[in-house]
Amino acid sequence: MKKRRLILPFILMGLAMTSLGIAAFGYINSYQTDQVAKAGETSIVKNTKKQKETPVYFPGAGLPEGGQITRLMFVGDIMLSRAVGSQMEKQNDWSWPFLKIADFSQQADILFGNLEGPISARGADRGSPYSFRANPRVIEGLKLAGFDVLSLANNHALDWGKIALEDTLNILEENNIQSVGADHNSAQAQEVKIIEKNNIKFGWLAYTPFVNNFSRATLEQVGLTDFNREKIIEDVSKAKNIVDILIVSYHFGEEYQKQANNYQRELARLTVDSGADLIIGHHPHVVQDIEKYQDAFIVYSLGNFIFDQTFSKETMEGIIFEVIFEDKNIIEIHQIPTVISNSLQVSLASE
Ligand SMILES: [Zn+2]
Repeated sequence: MKKRRLILPFILMGLAMTSLGIAAFGYINSYQTDQVAKAGETSIVKNTKKQKETPVYFPGAGLPEGGQITRLMFVGDIMLSRAVGSQMEKQNDWSWPFLKIADFSQQADILFGNLEGPISARGADRGSPYSFRANPRVIEGLKLAGFDVLSLANNHALDWGKIALEDTLNILEENNIQSVGADHNSAQAQEVKIIEKNNIKFGWLAYTPFVNNFSRATLEQVGLTDFNREKIIEDVSKAKNIVDILIVSYHFGEEYQKQANNYQRELARLTVDSGADLIIGHHPHVVQDIEKYQDAFIVYSLGNFIFDQTFSKETMEGIIFEVIFEDKNIIEIHQIPTVISNSLQVSLASE
């Protein structure tokens, strides 16, 4: 009797560990690309929350097949106003939020994020209790981090009206940061933005369902991309013909939900069916799941990269989604956890 009591917990523990192992294997395995599984010489998809170290890329013999390697990194919501803005002012350092991540993020060949709110000294507060507007000097931090492309298609882009959005577009342009999801007029907004790296044409489109018609670009006026399925399918199909890799970013989903909802899944898959290679989601302020669909990866929400939602652990965490290309093929993906400190600096969770 006594012996049994001792053994049972061990059996239960063993069973639990086995099933955990199987689950973890299935989860990780589902993210491996064909090339990775075939090549067998790389470590790969570091994806669990337990990850303590920064992933090591291509260990041992080096690069598979000797192709050209391109690293893309994607981060979620970046809010440089409110408490984040006050902290930068207090520190008298406009790169403050990014000081601890810059060494890492600068390694990306292309770094993407969602800029949640305008950068401007002008405009009029449209009266939401959550209106964001960042000091033009925050461009210093965005540059230090190494951003190449920022989405403006979100529910805060028009917090200070069209003038402030116009300023944001101009400031980013002057600093060689491509904006996507908003532009000076509707024709430009709807057009794919292209960043070429290592002879690969990466195309970018961005959308959000969350804003009213006032926020959308018109024939003559600055604003966000139009959002409806027909338009998106049309943009994506058109873009697909002129780029090698098409990335579509969505500011969508429900706040604080850790799983994507059916609406997100259906829209993301439709976008892949229309020609997108990567779907990059943000807005829920927490990390959501990732799915492989056809040959594409869908990241439903990257969580917060820089934000002041100090009320929960989950809102102070995010991931950097890293995609490694060998020539035009995706050979690895990584989820790299990040955390935001109480003094509102983002760093790798492993540090
Ligand atoms: Zn949002």
